[in-house]
This record gives sequence, structure tokens and C-alpha cells, in this order.
Amino acid sequence: MLRVAVVGSGPSGIYAAQALVAQDLVPGVRVDVLDRLPCPYGLVRYGVAPDHERIKSLQRGLRSVLEHERVTFVGNVPVGAGGVEPGRLAGLYHAVVYCVGAAADRSLGIPGEELPGSRSATEFVSWYSAHPDTATGRFGLRARTVVVIGMGNVAVDVARILARGAEELRPTDVPQSALGVLAGSRVRQVVMVGRRGPSQARFTTKELRELGALPGARVVVEPAELARDPWYAGPAPDAPSPPAVVRRNLDVLRGWAAAGPVDGDVSGRRIALRFFLRPVELLERGGRVAGVRFARTGPDGEGGIRDTGAYEDIAAELVLRAVGYRGVPLPGLPFDPVHGTVPHRAGRVLRDGVPSPGEYVAGWIKRGPTGVIGSNRSCAKETVASLIEDAPLLAHRPAAPDPLAVLRSWGLRPVEWDGWQSIERAEAALGRSLGRGPVKIPDWPGLMGAARGDGG
Ligand code: NAP
Repeated sequence: MLRVAVVGSGPSGIYAAQALVAQDLVPGVRVDVLDRLPCPYGLVRYGVAPDHERIKSLQRGLRSVLEHERVTFVGNVPVGAGGVEPGRLAGLYHAVVYCVGAAADRSLGIPGEELPGSRSATEFVSWYSAHPDTATGRFGLRARTVVVIGMGNVAVDVARILARGAEELRPTDVPQSALGVLAGSRVRQVVMVGRRGPSQARFTTKELRELGALPGARVVVEPAELARDPWYAGPAPDAPSPPAVVRRNLDVLRGWAAAGPVDGDVSGRRIALRFFLRPVELLERGGRVAGVRFARTGPDGEGGIRDTGAYEDIAAELVLRAVGYRGVPLPGLPFDPVHGTVPHRAGRVLRDGVPSPGEYVAGWIKRGPTGVIGSNRSCAKETVASLIEDAPLLAHRPAAPDPLAVLRSWGLRPVEWDGWQSIERAEAALGRSLGRGPVKIPDWPGLMGAARGDGG
């Protein structure tokens, strides 16, 4: 029998577990899916926006994997910094697949970034997603203007949540404390800013369109700014045409440009999309962020940008940096600091360029923070194919007959599936008491109490 640990119960970890138990390719394989949180699903629970019900519903499929007879969910077991060292974990299992994602946010590296009022978008996402490491009082939303730096789907997510009315989020599982703050939000304007042009924006069209469909919010664009994009007016007769997603994005932006200015409309919130502005400094007043200084850029004719020498300041009391995620090193595992990933070959962890027996990676820590949730399925399958190929050799490695008992003997208190179900019941009960559907518990004591069945 082969015992495998998967570290991380987000989509890549669960897809790896699914691939391992699929079709009995490895007869008798048993998979423990470890997570440092007592809750499974990773970014599907703590990253997908609460109003994206369809993507959230992927949890049903992920759940069926964790309920498979050969798969065990083992929450509240940190691996790496302050937790179980990879070297010790390797002694308990024939193989370990690290699916730990990209836990940090990228920084801008410009003056003023650390000012109060400058936050990463991932922190904001964690706050409205009830991540227990993010204090419930983290955001007060007293700002009237919020600048969101970046043109990816995370930027779109946070702009949309800021512009949505709290009542629209009430049917979701957004924590009650965040709902209260969103209800009292003073935000009137969200300015999303990209350093390049609309053709280079990273958001997908469905997400972009959603901004224009928000009740009580208007999207504004600057036609002159869009027109700087070489593809905005359509490709030149003998030039290649843009990729389909760019064509669709430009169509949406053209529609908003055609809708004209909304200066007379003072009701509702305003979402402004600005392009060709590269952040150079966060401005300060009274010890807090007061805005962002941008260098005006323009296309360089080769798909990139160059500075024009002009600057523009945008005043804002809150700045959210949505410039991407970054993998963090796991002590005991090799790490490529340039790409923020673990070096690997087809998912086999490489130590000094040589595959390390029994160590694998999948998901963002393998390929970097790109792609949609489904991209993790093929990524995990590739890794598991390598593991299956290695299985005859792996079976000769030592492994513990009962790894959970060993983890307990090391002082850990794993939360197993019944503990997670107990959290689910507690969240449903909390929601009922508030006249809502299930509402997430946002703190460690609450989650651990619920896992033990206290008051659930
Ligand atoms: P992303 O797609 O990589 O976008 C990052 C944005 O930040 C880009 O516009 C990038 O501009 C900009 N940026 C990077 N460094 C910058 C700098 N120094 N100054 C100014 N701008 C800078 O990252 P993400 O939005 O965090 O998304 C991560 C992944 O999760 C993506 O694959 C995304 O599709 C996925 N996701 C999907 C959904 C969904 O499907 N609904 C929701 C959330 C996230 P440049 O292009 O110029 O570098």
C-alpha cells in the first residue's frame, strides 16, 4: 500500500488527490490531504469572491474527493515554518505532494508603499473571505476614493466588492463583521489603474463585463486614453489581429466609452478604469496615504510601454495593490526566488538539479500564480503521472503505518472531516441566527471551537 501526503487542500491539492485515487492506478493508495487551516478548499473558500456563486459551487466537486474512502482530510496541521518540517513529514509517507500555492502578494517597490492606508488586495480579499489570519477590524472603509493598482482579475474582484451594495452581499457567506463595514462604507469612487494599455490587461471578459452590470454603480473610461492603444481602433490592415480575449475586452471598453461621460450623475458609485499610468510613489498627508503619483506611459510600439515624461496624481485615502501573488519558500524545500516556485521536472522536486525521491509539487508553487482554477487539474495530473511512474521505487521507502497518530504524538491536534463538518454546521447555525444562509466564522478561536463541536 502506498501512503501519500498532499500538503494543501486548495484546488491543486484536491485535484492531485483525485488523480491519485482515480481508476485505481495505484492499487491501495491512501492519501492524507493536510492543511494548516481547519477548513479545506484553499482559495476556493478564501479567495473566490463571495458573489461568484458559480465558481464557489466548485466546492461540491472538491468535497466529493475529500469524502472518497481512500482520502482523509487532515486540517490544522502546518507544514514548514513553525510546523512539521518537510524532512520529518517525508519519514511518515512514501511520497509528499506540496500544493501550497503562492501565499504572499507581490510588492510595487516604490516609496510610500508601507504607509497606513496602503494595503495589498489579497489582504482585502482575505478580510471579506473571513480568513482567520486577517483580523476582522482590518478594514474600516472610511475612504471616499480607493485606487486599485493592477488590471488582473483580483483587481476586478476587489473593485466589484467595493462598488457593490452590502445588501447584494447579504445572501452570500461574507462574514457578518465585514458585511457591517461594507454597509457603512463611504466609498464613492474606485479607480482601477493599469501601467499598460487595455490590450495588455490581464482580466477576463466575463469579469470585466460584470463591473458594468452592478446595480448602483457606473463604469467610466477615458476614450482618449483607450485610443492610445494600437489595437483600440482595430488592427491595421496588414497587422496581426489581437487574441480573442483582447478583442472581447476592447469591445466591452468601447461600449463604455460610447456611453459617454456621467458627470451629471452623482448617485451611486463610480468605477473608473485608467490605463497607461505607472505608479511611482504613494503620496502622504498626516502620516497616511493621500494618493498615488503615476508616470504617464504610452505604447513603445513593441507591445511594451515607455514613460512620456508626464505625471498624474490621483488622490485616494485607500490604495489596494493588486499586482499579483508570489510563492513563499517552505523551509526544508528548495526554492527558486526569481520565479517564486519550487524547482521541478514534471512535478518531481529537484534538489541540486536532481529529482528528490518522494517529493513532488503541483499548482501555483509549481508553475507560478497563473491560470484559472481548472488549470490546476492538468497541472496536478502531470505531477501524479510522475508519482505513479515512480511508485514501484517509492513503495520501498519507509512510511508510518498510522501517520496521524505520529502527528498527534508530536503535539499536533489535527481537525479531521467530522471536525470540518462541525464547522459547516456552526456556520449554518450562525447564518440562521442572523437570518442569513451559512455565514463564515472569521477567527481561529471560533473555528477551533466549532471544530470541537462547541455550540455548533
Ligand atoms: P495578474 O493576473 O498577474 O495581474 C496582475 C496585474 O498587476 C497586471 O495588470 C500587472 O500589469 C500588474 N502589475 C504587476 N506589477 C506591477 C507593478 N509593479 N506596477 C503596476 N502594475 C503592476 O494577477 P492577479 O489579478 O493577482 O490574478 C492571479 C491569478 O488568479 C490570475 O491567473 C487570475 O486570472 C486568477 N484569478 C481569477 C479570478 C476569476 O477567474 N474570477 C479571480 C481572481 C484571480 P502587467 O501586465 O503590466 O505586468
